[in-house]
Amino acid sequence: MMTNRKVPMDESNPILLQINNRWHIVEHSRRSERALCGVRVTHRGAHARLSLVGKRNVCGKCLELFKAMENA
Ligand SMILES: [Zn+2]
Repeated sequence: MMTNRKVPMDESNPILLQINNRWHIVEHSRRSERALCGVRVTHRGAHARLSLVGKRNVCGKCLELFKAMENA
């Protein structure tokens, strides 16, 4: 039986996926079907961490939602 264990995100350094030439934040690099902002993950392209890419290169909506999650 599958357990639905919640794996906490790395709070200050989330995983990013490159979608349509933009970096978006995802909860799970392999399992998420959508980025936080709702953009569909169309293919498993490049992965990176926020610390590597830098906030200025990341989708603003994802960053906003990520911040909201941190403060929840
Ligand atoms: Zn996004």
